[in-house]
Amino acid sequence: MSVQETGRFAPSPSGYMHMGNLLSMLLAWLDCRAHDGRLLFRMEDLDPGRSKPRYRDALAEDLRWLGLDWDEGWPDPAYAQSNRGAFYQEAFAALERQALVYPCWCSRADRLAAASAPHADEESFDAGCPCARLSRKERAQRERSGRRPAWKLRMPDRLVTVEDAHYGLFSQNLAREAGDCILRRSDGVFAYQLAVSVDDMLMGVTRVVRGRDLLHSAPRQHWLIETLGGTPPVYCHGPLLSADDGKLSKRLGNRSTQLLRQEYRPEALIGKLAFLCGLIDREEALSARELLPAFDWSRVSRSDIPCP
Ligand code: GLU
Repeated sequence: MSVQETGRFAPSPSGYMHMGNLLSMLLAWLDCRAHDGRLLFRMEDLDPGRSKPRYRDALAEDLRWLGLDWDEGWPDPAYAQSNRGAFYQEAFAALERQALVYPCWCSRADRLAAASAPHADEESFDAGCPCARLSRKERAQRERSGRRPAWKLRMPDRLVTVEDAHYGLFSQNLAREAGDCILRRSDGVFAYQLAVSVDDMLMGVTRVVRGRDLLHSAPRQHWLIETLGGTPPVYCHGPLLSADDGKLSKRLGNRSTQLLRQEYRPEALIGKLAFLCGLIDREEALSARELLPAFDWSRVSRSDIPCP
């Protein structure tokens, strides 16, 4: 008997969705439905400063409006990351027991200053963060300062390869190319890499479909889930929509769903997204369900797509 696949929508309610988000949601829906999977909707509202109830409500309304249904999840509060701190805390403690966690007192300014060295960026600085190698005495000194540290995950000096179902093999040396990542911010908020890995693991997600901008996170998340004793999902990234001027500043590409919903019928927008990403040869209005028979990852563009 084959095991049922589980996919997910995992948007962050830090703004209204635009065409790029809608394309990722459509691909996640098509991939899951094409596999007869169970689709979850998780609200990634970890950051209390950026998550707003109006965006949260709009995300669900937009998905419904587009006809992208889900089987479990939001508005069940158990699927909001802001309510899942106990799970993140447990995983954090498990990583601590494996001596993979250390406190970091560097400020964001320290990180940026170090990043101005040639060929370094904020992440590669994290790999060489002085807090990763403090002596007992130095650590005690910092602890006495009373400043609350952030908590970081010590990445292994190891090449991790994921086989992305759309982009193929993707390898990264975690320590050297990704760098130690923040698990918990100094204000106590758990960070993205930990929360998303723990949730995908505990929710039994088997297929992660999202935009290519998160491909570089896949090896870290794969390793983190393995380290926590779980089975990593298949990752399948989709192309991004880009405007000619490099940012989605004008035109269709940057119109939020608030505006798009006034201008388009849902089927017209689904047809446009499907045409833009290569799933259909001629732009026509059709529902997500009508698009299912045409869905095939081999038709989906691997290059980013200029958005009109
Ligand atoms: N919540 C993230 C975002 O909206 C996506 C996380 C993920 O798919 O792994 O960008």
